[in-house]
Amino acid sequence: MAVIIDGKKHSAEMRKTIADRAANYKSITGKDIGLAVVLVGDDPASAVYVRNKIKGCEEVGIKSFAYYLPADSAQEQVENLVGGLAEDDAVNGILVQLPLPGHLDAKKILSRIPKSKDVDGFCEENIGSLCMNEDCLVACTPNGIMKLLERENIPVKGKNAVVVGRSNIVGKPMALLLLNADATVTICHSKTRNLKEICSRADILVAAIGKAKFITADYVKQGAVVIDVGMDRDENGKLCGDVDFEAVKDKCSHITPVPGGVGPMTITMLLYNTVTAAERCL
Ligand code: NAP
Repeated sequence: MAVIIDGKKHSAEMRKTIADRAANYKSITGKDIGLAVVLVGDDPASAVYVRNKIKGCEEVGIKSFAYYLPADSAQEQVENLVGGLAEDDAVNGILVQLPLPGHLDAKKILSRIPKSKDVDGFCEENIGSLCMNEDCLVACTPNGIMKLLERENIPVKGKNAVVVGRSNIVGKPMALLLLNADATVTICHSKTRNLKEICSRADILVAAIGKAKFITADYVKQGAVVIDVGMDRDENGKLCGDVDFEAVKDKCSHITPVPGGVGPMTITMLLYNTVTAAERCL
């Protein structure tokens, strides 16, 4: 039976350190660290994410500024709001909740967030820096996975890592982080041939696909580390991951469960990035 990586435990421990850092920042500057969250429209899932982010801020002593704009907001209105937050000294981090309503140009809106306040790590400048292996703010989910590997003392250097999924927010930054940590990285996607064979050679297998229980035991090498990013629903509507946990858990050395693995780290890394962004201005 594999070690089940407890994301909730790691997340709670990290939040204590983040709270200490936020308190230390306040004792030095006399100011709270501030995170601005922009939500456009009334997508229920996005509203839940935003609520949880605000709750996370309260827990660690970060001041949150929430901006709720109607779904039919004009491009200029959203851009002006973000542009104003970019200039605001009380705001150390800016997050625009994605996806935005279809009529808005997300790329243009995100480009108004300065690199130093881009706590989601989605802006082109931060992605470019990640690509160059330079210090930068990194997308929260993949960065949270690196923290899990580090905190579980799982070596990455020289390992064969396979990332299934190439999205800009998970798969690509994940692959870059593993590469920067000296793994030999293969990125797979929906057009990859021999996926099962490639995955079954991985020492570290990251599944970021969005398909319930897609990764079965035949995809997994004996003793591999399996990281499940997926947040899917099974045939009974129950939350599950991209990995068939029950089938894989006896074959691998470590595995992240869903729920309770990667998920809890994502908001924690947002808080971590916000404190880091603030400290860089000291
Ligand atoms: P996405 O943008 O839909 O990307 C999915 C990726 O999987 C794509 O690159 C796609 O390939 C690839 N893929 C799809 N079917 C495949 C197949 N049959 N074989 C191989 N590759 C396949 O999704 P995402 O935003 O990266 O998210 C992935 C999963 O992680 C979702 O379940 C999402 O809910 C979850 N997630 C969780 C967290 C968290 O905090 N835990 C955060 C973000 C996302 P193509 O590029 O060729 O289409």
